[in-house]
Amino acid sequence: MNVTLSSSELKKEGIEKTAQLSGANFFSCYQCGKCTAGCPASEFMDIPPHEVIRLLQIGQIEEILEKNSIWICASCITCAVRCPKGVDLAKIMEALRQIVLRKNVNYVHPSSVSKEELRTLPQIALIANFRKLTG
Ligand code: SF4
Ligand code: SF4
Repeated sequence: MNVTLSSSELKKEGIEKTAQLSGANFFSCYQCGKCTAGCPASEFMDIPPHEVIRLLQIGQIEEILEKNSIWICASCITCAVRCPKGVDLAKIMEALRQIVLRKNVNYVHPSSVSKEELRTLPQIALIANFRKLTG
């Protein structure tokens, strides 16, 4: 992914926008780790879900966007269901993706999909992939 947003631009609007788009109060998270413990995708993430929240709390949104976690998240909402503080982490992950994608920054470029992949992958998988990972 080629994130072209400047650091100051991200800091300025990123935290506020994440709260606005997700409707989640990430400051109520007390880092119990239940979200990460139940997340089926955390082993593939550069940083686990509870660390994404912690980085948001301390304003380190650039660090989150340098990692793959928000793109690996499968939006399964297990984390949101398990959270004892009612933090909807699935919506936070989606909000963070939207902040990038709305700047026309793609995580996956359609042209990078090979002919072989186009021939063999299920159409629904390709469509879901592009809906989630392209702006
Ligand atoms: S389960 Fe909720 S309170 Fe616990 S670390 Fe995750 S987001 Fe924070
Ligand atoms: S919504 Fe994302 S972060 Fe939450 S448990 Fe599912 S894959 Fe993990």
